[in-house]
Amino acid sequence: MKPQAIVIGSGFGGLAAAVRLLARGYRVRVLEALDTPGGRARVFARGDFQFDAGPTVITAPYLFDELFACLGKRREDYVEFLPVDPFYRCKFDDGESFDYVGDDERLLGEIERLSPKDVDGYRKLVRHAERIFDIGYTELADQPFSRLSDMLRIVPDLTRLSAYRSVYSLVERYIKDDRLRQVLTFEPLLVGGNPMRVPGIYLLIHWLERKWGVHFAKGGTGALVQALIRLIEESGAELEVNAPVDEILVKNGSARGVRLADGRELTADIVVANADPTLVYTQMIDPRALSFGRAARAKNKRQSMSLFVGYFGTNKTFEDTRHHTILLGPRYQGLLADIFDRRTLADDFSLYLHRPAATDRSMAPEGHDAFYVLSPVPNQKSGISWGEVSERYFDAILGELEERELPGLRQSIVTKFSVDPRYFEEDLRSKDGAAFGLEPVLHQSAYFRYQNACPDVMGLYFVGANTHPGAGLPGVLCSAKVLEHVLPPFGAAHTAAQGAA
Ligand SMILES: Cc1cc2nc3c(=O)[nH]c(=O)nc-3n(C[C@H](O)[C@H](O)[C@H](O)COP(=O)(O)OP(=O)(O)OC[C@H]3O[C@@H](n4cnc5c(N)ncnc54)[C@H](O)[C@@H]3O)c2cc1C
Repeated sequence: MKPQAIVIGSGFGGLAAAVRLLARGYRVRVLEALDTPGGRARVFARGDFQFDAGPTVITAPYLFDELFACLGKRREDYVEFLPVDPFYRCKFDDGESFDYVGDDERLLGEIERLSPKDVDGYRKLVRHAERIFDIGYTELADQPFSRLSDMLRIVPDLTRLSAYRSVYSLVERYIKDDRLRQVLTFEPLLVGGNPMRVPGIYLLIHWLERKWGVHFAKGGTGALVQALIRLIEESGAELEVNAPVDEILVKNGSARGVRLADGRELTADIVVANADPTLVYTQMIDPRALSFGRAARAKNKRQSMSLFVGYFGTNKTFEDTRHHTILLGPRYQGLLADIFDRRTLADDFSLYLHRPAATDRSMAPEGHDAFYVLSPVPNQKSGISWGEVSERYFDAILGELEERELPGLRQSIVTKFSVDPRYFEEDLRSKDGAAFGLEPVLHQSAYFRYQNACPDVMGLYFVGANTHPGAGLPGVLCSAKVLEHVLPPFGAAHTAAQGAA
């Protein structure tokens, strides 16, 4: 009999883990608390509109190809990737705009137009980003950091590349124009990092985008989730939604299965949690199974910021708006401090606007357009009463969009709704309503992030944004790759678990 694996959660981390477990010969059962799969990448359906709830920017598409190849399939037979051009259009408060594109010549042309004095600096910066990528991504992203010595081994390289300094301070070294500095430092926000203190190693995201481009799944990210579900189900995995797990059962130091909220107990040889490890350690395991201080340390970790996301459909199209638009506000550093440090809700915004129909017309009904707008906001530690402010905040954002990007917007809206930090805390079960899990700072990276193999409970593993290497689709897919290094050799898990029983 093949050993049984239970995966808690069907985010991209959980689905990627399911693929890799199937490829190793496990029987796999995925248990998802919500009524739809995908986690942050679920789909909200409203009438004729379908909105991807979260991730839309696909970088490093080869990581998806690898998953299909693991089970002997071709990704192209399940879902198509479309290139996005420009990657992003950035609009500044002074009315100027900048197209961030993949093509070197066009990109240098854009820099020359915006800030001629920064062309040489950008060339140097991009070489620096590539060198960081060669180490931080190529060598480390899918490797386990189970021992402190794994971390110490990389210190000389990090030091040589100044990768311990903040992304902003590295960019500032090469780029003089304030607007260009913003363009080249906002990327860490997409994985929950404050550009002012996220370590320079995250500059690798810039090179990652330049190297493999920015893509969109035809039919939306929801189509990519469905493709992965089809892939695992064809290989015999079972996926159950509306199946929240309350407890991970531990016997004699080994994970033996789970207890669901409805009281059912399911046994397994190994358990892989795509759920937030902070909540696993503080609420889902008998504290006697954990080493002293594990739960207290988990509680004290610093969570990333949260998000306000407004979804809306219109009865006309906005052809001048690109797929990914970044609308930068009048303040950058001050706004970041409001979000990450002062934890107050500012009156000004920096927004990301998603218009998928710009790349794939099928993403909105004929003659209509569909959008989401995302505003980084403080996490639930702020004490902001979202029940009171949410509607007003959304109205203010729509006003800003109407003024700066989408003329006549409010009159054309036919459907709208929003999510705020309460959604991340209550629906997605993330500590403090963090949108991206632990904040990516040096002391919460690699060895200091949640490890993929639980140090206390044999047969318990973690994948997803809270584990090494971190949030974002490339990060969570790599976390499932790390799993392959930390799982026992095939068959050993089964034997060990039988011993514990
Ligand atoms: C609005 C938004 C936009 C983003 N845009 C991008 C982007 O464009 N590109 C990019 O690369 N990244 C993006 N990100 C980040 C990216 O979406 C996430 O880092 C990634 O999807 C997280 O995947 P995950 O598997 O770690 O977690 P999740 O997607 O959160 O999945 C975890 C799953 O576990 C389930 N679960 C939790 N607890 C339990 C339990 N006890 N029992 C059963 N199930 C449980 C949850 O319901 C959830 O389905 C975005 C994030 C957000 C929020």
